[in-house]
Amino acid sequence: MPLMSRLRPATCAAVVFLSACGGGAEPNHPVTPVDTTPIPEKLTVSISVPSTLLPDLQTYPYALLTVKAGYTYNKSSAVTTACRIGTQAVPCEVPEAVAVGKVWSYVSARSEATGLTVIDSALTIVKPALIKGRAVVATSTGEYVPTASYVIAGDSAGFLDSTIVSADGTFSMSSRFRLKNRVHIAVRGDAGMAPMLGWVSSVQLDSLTLIGSPKSFTQQTGTFAGQTRAIDLVKAATVVPSPSILSYYPHAQNGGATYFSVGAPKTRLGCVVFMPMGQRISEIGISSTDIITAADSIQFLATAQPFAKAFSIEIRTCTQPERDQNVSLYIFLIPAVGGDNGGVIAGYADFTAGQVTIVNRQSFGDSAAVLHELGHALLGLGHTCMWDSIMLSSCGRYIPSGIYAEDVVYASLMSRTRELERKYHTRFSLPFSINGAWVERFGLSEEMNLLVLDENGRGVP
Ligand SMILES: [Zn+2]
Repeated sequence: MPLMSRLRPATCAAVVFLSACGGGAEPNHPVTPVDTTPIPEKLTVSISVPSTLLPDLQTYPYALLTVKAGYTYNKSSAVTTACRIGTQAVPCEVPEAVAVGKVWSYVSARSEATGLTVIDSALTIVKPALIKGRAVVATSTGEYVPTASYVIAGDSAGFLDSTIVSADGTFSMSSRFRLKNRVHIAVRGDAGMAPMLGWVSSVQLDSLTLIGSPKSFTQQTGTFAGQTRAIDLVKAATVVPSPSILSYYPHAQNGGATYFSVGAPKTRLGCVVFMPMGQRISEIGISSTDIITAADSIQFLATAQPFAKAFSIEIRTCTQPERDQNVSLYIFLIPAVGGDNGGVIAGYADFTAGQVTIVNRQSFGDSAAVLHELGHALLGLGHTCMWDSIMLSSCGRYIPSGIYAEDVVYASLMSRTRELERKYHTRFSLPFSINGAWVERFGLSEEMNLLVLDENGRGVP
């Protein structure tokens, strides 16, 4: 009895066990299968990398690459993705700096429930972002390559990339700014050239030609041949007082941006047409209102000869074929206008012709008047008070009747620079040097906002 008492709970326990485990108690009774054919686990992953790297972030010799992972999974459990570039684990969908060259990127997807892991990969070719171009310096005899110069690129926040000009004048600069709409370019020149500074449009950055200015210039031809003068571009660009507000290297306003005209005549021939009374030329819409006599024209041409000798321009009346094709200068006599004046016809680049309007017949023989207006009309010069000059105006002192070495040397540099611009198909070289000289002299931020475009565009921002 005591033994039975002890066994009862055990027996009871056994009954409970058998009841709960009916299958085990009845091994011959078949169990209906619920899921005997498991659905295969299917996990795929896909990588995507941008075909072009983010423009604003692109830099060289590194570029920012963003790797993205996508996946599909036919189960409901969680999937985690991971990305790496080469052997380096990186966060997915976050820009990562990579070196220029071939870059293998990988993404993986892993099921947290089963550990199933799949991988995809992609090869990205990261290209360098280069600003390429050429630098030369205008000289009195042609040009030279400033091999000791640096070309520097940046934006309004500062300059960050640079390169040195190679022996053949070309340069190739790794720059994070290559794909910006415009880039701030500076040239730290060698000892013989003025520094350069300005903004360049992105369309120029594959073949940017920078034509620097020398710090001195020796006149090669004409009355002042052999004379050397220091070139001070700040002086050449300094405007005279109101109301003239022109500088020797003249500039013009266009759409709020300031451009210096660096136009030049394409020939050294200044052939003249004295406009008959009542005749006008359509470009400027003015016509002589008085008769220019033979004596007037002879006197004008005689008075102009010192100018011709100094600036090495042949000044004479046009032949008949030249009248149809290549007039350099039109002379008007209009007693009603305010004062003698002169200017060039057309443009911010090369000009086709100039005009001189004489108010008083006496001016045909007045050296001060004729030389001054020829400076405007044949050379495209403005005014200056920075040296004794035929182009004095609003200076509070008398206009001299002689020509000065500075007049000729600065005008020759302008012409030489324009010759090189034609050769290399570029624009606005002098303004870049004026800008650089201005900043070097005064440490100010540049006063001008320049964009370099080719001759087909006039520097429209
Ligand atoms: Zn003037």
